[in-house]
Amino acid sequence: MSDLSYTVELVPPDIEPYRAGNTGIDYVTTFEAAEPGPHVVVTALTHGNEICGAIALDRLFRANVRPRRGRLTLAFNNVMAYREFDPRYPIASRYVDEDFNRLWSPATLDSPRQSMELARARMMRPIVDSADLLLDLHSMQYATAPLMLAGLLPRSRDLARQVGIPELIMCDAGHAAGPRMRDYGGFGDPAATKTALLIECGQHWERRAAEVATDVTLRFLIAVGCVRREDVALGGPDFDAHPRQRVIEVTEAVTISGDRFDFAGDFRGLEVLEKKGALIGHDGEREVRTPYDDCVLIMPSRRLVKGQTAVRLGRYVG
Ligand SMILES: [Zn+2]
Repeated sequence: MSDLSYTVELVPPDIEPYRAGNTGIDYVTTFEAAEPGPHVVVTALTHGNEICGAIALDRLFRANVRPRRGRLTLAFNNVMAYREFDPRYPIASRYVDEDFNRLWSPATLDSPRQSMELARARMMRPIVDSADLLLDLHSMQYATAPLMLAGLLPRSRDLARQVGIPELIMCDAGHAAGPRMRDYGGFGDPAATKTALLIECGQHWERRAAEVATDVTLRFLIAVGCVRREDVALGGPDFDAHPRQRVIEVTEAVTISGDRFDFAGDFRGLEVLEKKGALIGHDGEREVRTPYDDCVLIMPSRRLVKGQTAVRLGRYVG
């Protein structure tokens, strides 16, 4: 499938009005309430071509959403990649040099290595360090149901339930290629109190992804006590809707070790393979098969490159 077969329904918003911000870091704005409270951070464009998050933040800015207590930071992460977004080649602008969301360990951030994304991650680090609560807005290659990625800690799973949407909560450890921002520092520490969520809002360029990004952000801000319902009546979300949420526990990531990876079927994600031993694909010469019955395929990748995740495997646990 080439880029040409994608329909780009979303229009990337102009984020230049948010460049100056007020934090000394470009494209990062913090609003502070008089009443003390947690530092809540919402980030978009961690991947430069995932524009639904930029649309959600643009809406929040335009609606003058302000925190009732504590601080609220709205940030656009990989702006360099976003600037290269071209609806004719929408895949190309995920990043410039490397994936911004595989750099989040002190070892990598403190290393002498240089890249566009590392420079930006180092710039963003004080914001992420000071966040008590983080929501990172993403989208996916295939048009499947939205997924909340809650990591491994019970407190993140609890927060995903408080947010109340989407229906699917995925509990996962991330990628062999490197830690995500949502797993960094206290967010992944069982002894800490910081909590992070990552939402995959739907297919990168479908209109609905922007609605999901906005709704999830507003419900997240309400759930953590940053705003009240009446503060954020932006005319979309039904705050009374409480769909039954189901949890998928991710048991493993299939990391590509061969020079070539081929899926055995046209998998789009969330397929349930009934029988243990069902063929998922070939990693070089190696057959990759399901390790148990009713195995769920999560976010099969179209970037099938050695060292990267081809697909994650999980099961419904509730
Ligand atoms: Zn992403």
